[in-house]
Amino acid sequence: MTVGFTDIAALDASDPLRGFRDEFQLREGLIYLDGNSLGAAPRATAARIAEVVANQWGEGLITSWLGAEWSTAPQRIGDKIASLLGAKPGEIVAADSTSVNIFKALTAAISLRPQRSTILSEATNFPTDVYMMQGIEAFVGGRLRAVTVDPGAVLERLDNDVAVLLLTQVHYKSGLVRDMAEVTRRAHAKGIPVVWDLSYSAGAIPVDLNGANVDFAVGCGYKFLNGGPGAPAFIFVAERHQAATPVLSGWFGHSSPFAFEEDYRPATGIARFLCGTPQVLGLAALECGLDLMGRVDLAELRRKSLALGDLFIERMELRCAGFGFELISQRDAALRGSQVSFAHPHGYEIIQALKQRDVIGDFRAPDVLRFGLTPLYLRYADIVEAVERLRDICQTRACDSPDHRHRAAVT
Ligand SMILES: *Cc1c(COP(=O)(O)O)cnc(C)c1O
Repeated sequence: MTVGFTDIAALDASDPLRGFRDEFQLREGLIYLDGNSLGAAPRATAARIAEVVANQWGEGLITSWLGAEWSTAPQRIGDKIASLLGAKPGEIVAADSTSVNIFKALTAAISLRPQRSTILSEATNFPTDVYMMQGIEAFVGGRLRAVTVDPGAVLERLDNDVAVLLLTQVHYKSGLVRDMAEVTRRAHAKGIPVVWDLSYSAGAIPVDLNGANVDFAVGCGYKFLNGGPGAPAFIFVAERHQAATPVLSGWFGHSSPFAFEEDYRPATGIARFLCGTPQVLGLAALECGLDLMGRVDLAELRRKSLALGDLFIERMELRCAGFGFELISQRDAALRGSQVSFAHPHGYEIIQALKQRDVIGDFRAPDVLRFGLTPLYLRYADIVEAVERLRDICQTRACDSPDHRHRAAVT
């Protein structure tokens, strides 16, 4: 797609998703290109949380575990996530953090292949994914080895010693999309179950878990699902693997939590992959994000996301050529998630200078500027304007200001 300046207003005016922006709380003037790290707040969320606190908690107190259906919220909300990801009801629960769910999925997968000794991933995976593998290796005292290989070498490394393969479908830095069905098929040919991390996929690109014959998957609630800071994550376990023995054998995964039996007896079905008490307030906020997403045409979402990405790249090449940006996302839209990333030696300083001009992107060490594209609340005009502000920073060398050099604890 090649778009001229004059077409931009027309694109926004005819955008079938344009109505969704008003459902989010977003200050006029701000261009928020970080919905891949923390999705914007749906307007409905504040009222919902207030209601849960005042009525369900404040008035209902402990009776709300049943009266307000708190105790089954992980399953109810999991089913809403399942409908977005090509999973069946009863294959997903919303609970815990993504890191904890990675642990649960990896250990369940390993229990299916007790004779094998390698946990495999790619070296540039999101750090927590690899850290969780390394923790399992340390815990079992060397019986399992956490191995990471170059991203391009993963398929060659699949052999009969691999107990589980852990991959992220959309790469957190570059946005490169892996072919989930094909990689899963190649792994299954060697008897390897796969855990897919969908942190940058859920709510961003079409996902068909059962169509791709996926074994296990995990993902975040606070990114493209707009569930709020620290929202509960989710875990998918294909029906055929739900008898695997979970290592995190908490009471909410027990067959009868309120019988207070002395011994652990795992629940049947996806409830087995719960652990402790559901995060009720976080789940209520997550449900607001999901109810909004449930009304979105996901094919339209993807189409607009790619059009925003193409426009971003085109404007960068037109307006910021010669300033040292190197595109590290795929130019081929089909291989790109809902983000566009560039490398630049002064990436950190540029991201800080952009914040001062009310454009929020993020920086990922060592040199990546990452711009998340959220079709529900971004307009084509926002992309054009963001690139203009970036050009101004480069032209006036605003990023050279010493205030921008100090690295904050969170980037
Ligand atoms: C964001 C992200 C996580 C985050 O894990 P938390 O436990 O929620 O902090 C994990 N994996 C990937 C690939 C991510 O993008």
